[in-house]
Amino acid sequence: MSRVKSFLTELDDYELAFFAKFKLLTYMKETQSEIKEYLIERNLNESKIDRLISENPKSKLNDDRKRCPRCYSDKIRNDKVEWTNTGGGIGIGDEVATWDGIGGRATYKDEVICNVCGNWLEDPNQEKPLPTSKKILYGIWDFVIGVLRN
Ligand SMILES: [Zn+2]
Repeated sequence: MSRVKSFLTELDDYELAFFAKFKLLTYMKETQSEIKEYLIERNLNESKIDRLISENPKSKLNDDRKRCPRCYSDKIRNDKVEWTNTGGGIGIGDEVATWDGIGGRATYKDEVICNVCGNWLEDPNQEKPLPTSKKILYGIWDFVIGVLRN
């Protein structure tokens, strides 16, 4: 089983729907076909994906877990990244490259990305892909999946 597929098997239907709508097209073509095959296996089609997304019962959950504001999954990835976005201020040199806890010279920030829908919750270095590529992706999505919005 490939890595992406073993990840997909851990998702519930709602998460899978968000994944299909928002993240599928960020994968290579071959992986995309693999994912689509799996969607069929799980009995997910376009209209069902849309329905699951609008229904998403997780949006009503009120627990202490950190959740993605878009898909409400708690499968989010939290990476400590060196903070490079200093706004033209003092550059970060090698001397601050160590993290030694609270009170240390912390120049590491959380970069938080939703593993399910690819939503960026925290983007300290503004690394998230530019909207132009999004536009193209949506175009392809319409072409591949058909008329989702109708
Ligand atoms: Zn999400």
